[in-house]
Amino acid sequence: MSKPLLLTQMSLDRCSSARKKPEWISTQLTKPNTHFFVSYQGKFLVNAGQLVNLTRTQYDQVNHNRITCIFLGKNLHDDQAVFVLDFSLLSEEQWQELHNRVRLQCSDDLVDLRRALSELSVEVASIAGFANALINWHRSHQFCGYCGSPLLDKEAGHAKQCSDQVCAKLVFPRTDPVVIMIIEHTDEIGITRCLLAGHQRSQGQVISTLAGFVDPGESIEEAVTREVFEEVGLITTSVRYLCSQPWPFPASLMLGFHVKVSSNNTTIDPDEITHVKWCTAQDIASFSDWGSDDDNTQIPGKHSISRYLIDWWCKNQLNVSK
Ligand SMILES: [Zn+2]
Repeated sequence: MSKPLLLTQMSLDRCSSARKKPEWISTQLTKPNTHFFVSYQGKFLVNAGQLVNLTRTQYDQVNHNRITCIFLGKNLHDDQAVFVLDFSLLSEEQWQELHNRVRLQCSDDLVDLRRALSELSVEVASIAGFANALINWHRSHQFCGYCGSPLLDKEAGHAKQCSDQVCAKLVFPRTDPVVIMIIEHTDEIGITRCLLAGHQRSQGQVISTLAGFVDPGESIEEAVTREVFEEVGLITTSVRYLCSQPWPFPASLMLGFHVKVSSNNTTIDPDEITHVKWCTAQDIASFSDWGSDDDNTQIPGKHSISRYLIDWWCKNQLNVSK
């Protein structure tokens, strides 16, 4: 594997024990150089490829009853605490009023993290991804799943507890495992190809690897075998784990595999797949990147694990053929 995957290079100490102590968190909140990143409605405040960092003065001007404040960790470069402030409970008007009053710079932009990933540095993208996963969890877990009472924040935003004193259930952020695989087959005359597919959810000429959620009661290897059969009707003969990538849109962990199959006769699931293409490494070298203006076949952008698996496979094939 060459370049590390985006969202896997976070330069924060999560301080998993210290963050459970409210007095320690209070001390971090009052330090002059603590970082406060800003999020609103699933977007982040970004300027010149960096997350915008509120000053202490700006932080003090914020109405703290209407925000979700989550401790992310300590920056490994400067040892300063890093928090994210989510203002999603504010209306558009309230957000604009805050924007003007706190004097955020005019050039600061609220950007959709998924679209901005490729513009951020690897470290910044990882911190923003971590923040996004926690914000998504807070927004979707406001009430107890057992008794329906409101949940209260614990551990600086890394746990919640039911406000009903009898129930008092503790809940923690969840991650949903997803298997994603590059499928390979060598035909009777020795030509090796990988399978890429057009998905119902994809746009235009984009083809990519197969992927699917791990079911309850299933190992990740079983999930790979099941997904390959369900989506394209192929029998798996070998499953090899390669790498993983957190994908916080909203809460997935992508688990990447290299898979070999017994034949190239596919039967596609039309609810999921529009078409499949068996491709050599040379074929793939002629494709364009996702989002290109041309009508050429496109493959996912370089920040995704799907592209990482495709590039890994091509590199592997070229080494084999040397
Ligand atoms: Zn409860």
